[in-house]
Amino acid sequence: MSPFSRAASKLRAHLNYLKEENVTEVEVSPHNLAALQQRLRAPRASTPSPTPTAAAPIANAPVAGNVAEELAAIAAEIAACQKCRLCESRTNTVPGQGNLQPEIMFIGEGPGAEEDKQGIPFVGRAGQLLTQIIEAMGFTREQVFIGNVVKCRPPDNRVPMPDEMAACLPYLERQIALLKPKVIVALGATAVKGLFNDPKVSITKIRGQWMSYQGIDTMPTLHPAYLLRNPPAKREVWEDMKTVLTRLGRPIPAPKKRS
Ligand code: SF4
Repeated sequence: MSPFSRAASKLRAHLNYLKEENVTEVEVSPHNLAALQQRLRAPRASTPSPTPTAAAPIANAPVAGNVAEELAAIAAEIAACQKCRLCESRTNTVPGQGNLQPEIMFIGEGPGAEEDKQGIPFVGRAGQLLTQIIEAMGFTREQVFIGNVVKCRPPDNRVPMPDEMAACLPYLERQIALLKPKVIVALGATAVKGLFNDPKVSITKIRGQWMSYQGIDTMPTLHPAYLLRNPPAKREVWEDMKTVLTRLGRPIPAPKKRS
């Protein structure tokens, strides 16, 4: 049985369970639906899967295909998830998006209004700033993976509660295990609290210092939303990102000159 068939079988079992519980409808975001439909339309295993980026070695293509299938299956589970109260007010789930073999995985807190509307992570103002940071590092959004500790928007953009983060964390754990990033960048205190189950984190004290999440080098830094309120703090984030680039053995791009 292929990984996709296994995942589809698990999803079918979960939907049957919901049916037995008299649940008659499940929400599926346009983004998640498109991901599933794309997989269902894709050629079977005899045809090599598309490489995740133009630079990816051909030998890794089938691996990336399996990762895509598993990620789509996780996204489908998230779309049907009712494990915490955040399912009650969401418009769309936001499972995460990006490269299937990323060097860097950025993990934020949770979807905001725009992300909830589109089903895509970091597309609001803070997301635009994150995109600028990624590009300043010499990457594109498509070359990294971007996700959150909770996949549904907390009402009024409140901070996710510990029980909500604990309920959602298994999805992120599975995504990290599949994607195997070389480095994780945890954006803001809530991301660190959620990942490390530590409610006492002070991001201003620990930012810039390497942590280890399941053996993966993890850099805690400030959240882009904080940078929108405190632009001078961008300097600190850039220092942290330079540390990440050095760990990856990548050159540090010169800052762009303003015209
Ligand atoms: S936040 Fe996570 S655990 Fe809660 S309903 Fe959404 S997907 Fe499920």
